[in-house]
Amino acid sequence: MLAWLATQGTTEQREAAIQSIATSAAMRSRRAVLGHFSRELNQNIGLIGVVSMTEQGVSVYDNEKNGRNFLPGVKKRAVGDPLAADPAVNEAFDGSSQTAAFYRDVLERNSLDNAGMELISSVHYGVGFDNAFWDGSQMVYGDGSGRIFQAGGLTRAIDVIAHELTHGVTEFTAGLVYSKQSGALNESFSDVFGSLVKQYNLKQTAADATWLIGEGILVPTLGLALRSMQSPGTAFAGDHQPGHMDNYVDLPDDNNPANDNGGVHVNSGIPNHAFYLAAIALGGSAWEKAGKIWYNALTTKLGPNTQFVEAAQFTIDSAGELFGAAEQAAVRSAWTEVGVLG
Ligand SMILES: [Zn+2]
Repeated sequence: MLAWLATQGTTEQREAAIQSIATSAAMRSRRAVLGHFSRELNQNIGLIGVVSMTEQGVSVYDNEKNGRNFLPGVKKRAVGDPLAADPAVNEAFDGSSQTAAFYRDVLERNSLDNAGMELISSVHYGVGFDNAFWDGSQMVYGDGSGRIFQAGGLTRAIDVIAHELTHGVTEFTAGLVYSKQSGALNESFSDVFGSLVKQYNLKQTAADATWLIGEGILVPTLGLALRSMQSPGTAFAGDHQPGHMDNYVDLPDDNNPANDNGGVHVNSGIPNHAFYLAAIALGGSAWEKAGKIWYNALTTKLGPNTQFVEAAQFTIDSAGELFGAAEQAAVRSAWTEVGVLG
């Protein structure tokens, strides 16, 4: 969405979007480097078998609008502390804790690295910064400029928080390269588990869920949400996410922010919609079957350069390992419906 606003928005939106894209890109390269080391470290930890469930460490800092040289900032709340006076601190704290609880209780994962790593967040990052991101070691939230995101909106959406933290899980597991199809898969897994954390918190069935990502955090003139997994391309004015391979957007992965690392936030609509279709077909709450299937594929089968067709096959394989032929058929038909499988 930022990429679209950088070229199509009003002058004010273009300025806010370009500033946010530049900062996010710098952070993403830091994240790629840190991710590489974390993955190796995680494999070593796995080998020596020291993984155990301990109380999840969560802490929230105030960046006091100072930007990247002042990360994380001033500590405002940790586990056992009373509520902070600042709602952004409490929202980041609760969203991180709830995301960790989902991974622990539903997927038996001990924090992002499966070794209990502390979840550190900084709120009030920069001045009117229109983004939230995982930088490879911690979460960072801007306040929103009021031109793209509502002031204070980014910490209000638990699915946005869980989306960003899931980038950490992906980094420690499949390590999907943030470019073109592997990057769109990286984005899609973040939307999948972002949405599932929200649905789990609201105790929704797949049929009850809205399947919107970041509902109600954009300024109202821009639209309802950042993305729709149920109807990709309908979340906000200018949303052109495809929900089918016929409409795949083939963008170059160059340094032009409008090209979005080869369309990673655009083409993620296709695997997002496949997940939605599988979850609806499997029934019940989406985390019970579809979520476990996608998680098994992400953490045991996908690799850095996995493309859509391979990801589809991996989820079908996972459905067979965890459940049975009926679940495999449901997952296969979801990927067929979005045109990834013929
Ligand atoms: Zn993302």
